[in-house]
Amino acid sequence: MTLIQWVADQSDESLFKIESRPGFVFTPVEGSFNKTLCSECGEYVFDRYVRMKDGKPLCIPCSGYANARTLGG
Ligand SMILES: [Zn+2]
Repeated sequence: MTLIQWVADQSDESLFKIESRPGFVFTPVEGSFNKTLCSECGEYVFDRYVRMKDGKPLCIPCSGYANARTLGG
């Protein structure tokens, strides 16, 4: 019997000990599908593409697409 076969034959309970970690707080990664309404045309925009102009969220076309590109956004 190979070592790998022996390991494969063991039950999960004999190989792993599962317990909660005291004081551990799970913080989910911020979602990448959050979206915001463009204040100009009312279209939903994924947050990573939202452009702020005069304090208002805008989609890329409403914010001026050329500027958005040169800003490296
Ligand atoms: Zn827009």
